[in-house]
Amino acid sequence: MKCEKCSSLLKKVVIKKYNYGESGVKNVWLMNIPGLLCKNCDQEIAIVPAPLELHEVIAKAIVLHKTSLLSGEEIRFLRTQLRLSQIDFSKKISLTPESLSRIENNKLPVSDDTDRRVRLYYIRHLAEPKRSYSLSLDVLDKIISMKAIHSESFKINHIKNHWELSKVAA
Ligand SMILES: [Zn+2]
Repeated sequence: MKCEKCSSLLKKVVIKKYNYGESGVKNVWLMNIPGLLCKNCDQEIAIVPAPLELHEVIAKAIVLHKTSLLSGEEIRFLRTQLRLSQIDFSKKISLTPESLSRIENNKLPVSDDTDRRVRLYYIRHLAEPKRSYSLSLDVLDKIISMKAIHSESFKINHIKNHWELSKVAA
């Protein structure tokens, strides 16, 4: 493959840490993923394998492991994962479509209530029969007690052809 900018030949590389902004969620870092590098102009292209699996790992990290309140963009990401429109999702979590839209665009803060409803709705989706997720009470305890507002980052590793959450850190 050739570089789009300068037509030099691209070299296969491993990208140690890649900020996956394409997900729409800040602070998602993919570790040790394949990429292509142009040695001439330093252009680096990440190759993200198995995006569907990756997005499910990100969604679970947000819902099950994030210890602070969800952000607007995280709620948008989860809704997209559920393949629901703002109108349909707002009904599921007892909000008006206008409020949900403002929350997703960070124009309205995420309340404790909204955080819980979104997480529980997603957990309900994970626990659908065709999925192999079994809910633990620890997870529910954690969700009930969440309060602090700070941002966390998610590190996700690509190991042996699978995506694995390696760390959620403040
Ligand atoms: Zn180039």
